[in-house]
Amino acid sequence: MSMLEIKNLSKSFGDLEVLRDININIERGEVVVVIGPSGSGKSTMLRCVNLLERPTNGAILFEGQDITRLGRDTPSYRQKVGMVFQRFNLFPLKTVLENVTYAPQRLLRLPRGTAHFQGMEYLRKVGMESKADAYPNTLSGGQQQRVAIARALAMRPEVLLFDEPTSALDPELVGDVLAVMKQLAREGMTMLVVTHEMGFAREVAHRVIFMDQGYIVEEGTPEEIFGNPRNDRTRAFLARIL
Ligand code: ADP
Ligand code: MG
Repeated sequence: MSMLEIKNLSKSFGDLEVLRDININIERGEVVVVIGPSGSGKSTMLRCVNLLERPTNGAILFEGQDITRLGRDTPSYRQKVGMVFQRFNLFPLKTVLENVTYAPQRLLRLPRGTAHFQGMEYLRKVGMESKADAYPNTLSGGQQQRVAIARALAMRPEVLLFDEPTSALDPELVGDVLAVMKQLAREGMTMLVVTHEMGFAREVAHRVIFMDQGYIVEEGTPEEIFGNPRNDRTRAFLARIL
């Protein structure tokens, strides 16, 4: 049994079919990178996995359980799935450390001292411990994104979803965020990453999935997808972005 199984997932908004028969299995410790043009359904797919959207058809199994039918176990599933967005969405009126400790105190019921101690550990992990008392608007985009990653980690997720985490950053800030993501991958974190950073995909991904117009067009190892794409649409997309 895979950790996460997306089975025949489809999603429509009214008449607009955004996802069509998506099938993805993700093993524990695997890093899967999803690429594809704007509007191909990548964000919607991630949003279905963390229950921000309801699938129109199909099933999403986490450790064998259909997450769309969890009922009262939904909050505990949400805790296991962390998400990092393109826009970091930090709480503007909380300090960096408060951003990281808020959910663990509220949702995991950690005592304040424990949450702060662990929060500092996560900030250290992303290289942001010196900014623990700063407010988000005093940080660069790259620093805010690293805090957002620490905040996601503080909930002790079993899988992390990333939706174009570096797309909103100035080019010189991208590397620091990718370095944190590479470190997480090395430590065995299960990750589903939508990104246009092909260097990251080549170096870190176990598998690359190319989506277009709501379909998975092609998937394979980074060597297969970047070195020898079989589908014309994959080739055309890569020619545009590489
Ligand atoms: P991607 O992340 O690959 O750019 P999205 O998943 O954001 O693609 O969007 C896929 C398609 O679904 C787009 O045509 C988008 O306009 C549409 N879409 C996304 N969310 C909604 C929504 N809440 N209501 C209506 N249409 C949506
Ligand atoms: Mg998107």
